[in-house]
Amino acid sequence: VFILSIESSCDDTAAAVMHNDKVLSNVVANQLIHQQYGGVVPELASRAHQQNIVPVIDAALQKAGVAKEQLNAIAFTQGPGLMGSLLVGTSFAKSLSLALDIPLIAVNHMHAHILAHFIDEEGFDKPEFPFLALTISGGHTQIVKVNGFFEMEIIGETTDDAVGEAFDKTAKILGLPYPGGPLVDKYAQSGNPKAFEFTKPKVPGLDFSFSGLKTQILYFIQKNVAQNPDFIAENINDICASIQHTIIKILMDKLKSAVAETGITQVAIGGGVSANSGIRSTLKEAEAKYGWKTFIPKFEYTTDNAAMIGIVGYQKYLHRKFNDKSVVSKARIEF
Ligand code: ATP
Ligand code: FE
Repeated sequence: VFILSIESSCDDTAAAVMHNDKVLSNVVANQLIHQQYGGVVPELASRAHQQNIVPVIDAALQKAGVAKEQLNAIAFTQGPGLMGSLLVGTSFAKSLSLALDIPLIAVNHMHAHILAHFIDEEGFDKPEFPFLALTISGGHTQIVKVNGFFEMEIIGETTDDAVGEAFDKTAKILGLPYPGGPLVDKYAQSGNPKAFEFTKPKVPGLDFSFSGLKTQILYFIQKNVAQNPDFIAENINDICASIQHTIIKILMDKLKSAVAETGITQVAIGGGVSANSGIRSTLKEAEAKYGWKTFIPKFEYTTDNAAMIGIVGYQKYLHRKFNDKSVVSKARIEF
């Protein structure tokens, strides 16, 4: 089965071609325009999607060596995301499905961040059901009990900011360009994680909170810069390492509670923040430390991509879960 998949939920225009559970091509066009604004500007994002979508899909088909007449289905991100961005992918997918007379498959972006682990990749094991997934991205922070491809249950989530936002806002406070998450990661690698101490929020159950940490970081920087204008430049590595260490500790504490509560010891991470080198190594260490089996996605399937949409599309195709042409994009979507 050949499936073309499209992802356009935020600021990346992406297309992939799958042959069953294998990725033949995975193309992403990043929109650099947002950098100068320090965040994604929805209006500019949808305009850029309109410009990028045809060339990106052409490139994906060409790289895969698959003609559009060979496609068996088309999968697209229905939500959650920015409405104007989602509309571009949804409308394109509908038109192509109509033109080629092939099934149309709507995919939940957050399911895709989790199910990316089912892409067939050498050296990467697939989890067995049930497993726990920690989805950490630009807009979400969730612990999900995954019972099956279409059976998932959120057992913990953030009550305010997402962990990706915590990284990006930290970066902004430090004067780093958007999106700052990868830069915080880079500086943290040469810093001392115990140099500065931040208090962790007390949140009941398996839920998270990151807005208090953000405020704490802001005051900490303001106080120190008032005493020494070069504080950030002189300590950037240690600051980033300490903040990242705190965030990882918050995530790991809740994961440990989730494992204790459910008795499930297979733990997967997904979403853009799962690209973080500190999180990846800490989770890997948990295998020996706690006896978990952990699943860390291939780097290219962490931040937004269409291959993760394609693998969900493939599973839905096998189960004949198709959508009719009246399907609509959803900025917010039921899990
Ligand atoms: P969502 O999936 O919740 O709808 P999104 O699709 O915008 O949000 P993703 O593309 O999944 O988000 O993830 C982007 C986020 O990942 C950004 O906040 C970015 O800073 C963060 N990120 C990417 N790489 C790293 C890294 N190495 N360390 C920390 N954060 C990172
Ligand atoms: Fe995402």
